[in-house]
Amino acid sequence: SKAKLFDENTDTKTSFKDVAGLEGAKEEVQEIVDFLKFPEKYTALGGKIPKGALLVGPPGTGKTLLAKAVAGEAKVPFFSLSGSDFVEMFVGVGASRVRDLFKQAKEKSPSIIFIDEIDAIGRARGKNNFSGSNDERENTLNQLLTEMDGFGTNTNVIVLAATNRADVLDSALMRAGRFDRQIYVDLPDVRERKEIFEVHLRPLKKEETLDIDFLAKQTPGFSGADIANVCNEAALIAARNGKKAVNKQDFLDAVDRIVGGLEKKNKIIT
Ligand code: ATP
Repeated sequence: SKAKLFDENTDTKTSFKDVAGLEGAKEEVQEIVDFLKFPEKYTALGGKIPKGALLVGPPGTGKTLLAKAVAGEAKVPFFSLSGSDFVEMFVGVGASRVRDLFKQAKEKSPSIIFIDEIDAIGRARGKNNFSGSNDERENTLNQLLTEMDGFGTNTNVIVLAATNRADVLDSALMRAGRFDRQIYVDLPDVRERKEIFEVHLRPLKKEETLDIDFLAKQTPGFSGADIANVCNEAALIAARNGKKAVNKQDFLDAVDRIVGGLEKKNKIIT
């Protein structure tokens, strides 16, 4: 089957309500929402609206969710692609995909472009240059830099990119007028985990007495994605056992299962 160019999402139903915790990050992206909704308010005084921001943090902490929520709050279309797709699927055509993506986003502006795993294309150039595919990656990265420089300050396309390795990125990406803002999206603390549980417990039939503080305390080091997984897994475990509502034990079993999976993934031996 033919690989997709990129995703375009015009349903703007994701909002800041779907993003639990991350108060600081939400405050910072609120400004981006405002740029998209009321650009004249900023340009009237001669200011230049930023073109890009980098969302930096560990996997599963809500970077994609936050970017979608920015588009949802501003009611603008969301164009997205993943850096790893470029490297794996688009050999020979990375640069033209980037050009098409920006063209589409400009035509539908105001809009958001979201590049997940930007490190896959944005690693510092001229390092580890052992294989031919690196030229491909550099061409793609150069096109991205060209596009970001090319669109004027009144284009009203904002590019958000996510990475968990800001340290490996080419410094050219972070230069003024490109991804010159970094927004940190960290693992949740116990209070934030409680809020994330509240979001993901909403659709579940659970026992009235379920103690959410307890669940938050049982899940140190869990990301938002891990918590979403726990909630879903708990519902499946309860259903498998023929229960009418999900209870504390189902959550504990789900936590054990997710911890087991995480340990395998991280090769932690206990
Ligand atoms: P990756 O770096 O692996 O791409 P990410 O930081 O982009 O991860 P998301 O894809 O946004 O993470 O998160 C995956 C899912 O986890 C979300 O769709 C959501 O269900 C849940 N999730 C993560 N963080 C949060 C949060 N802060 N609030 C509510 N749900 C969250």
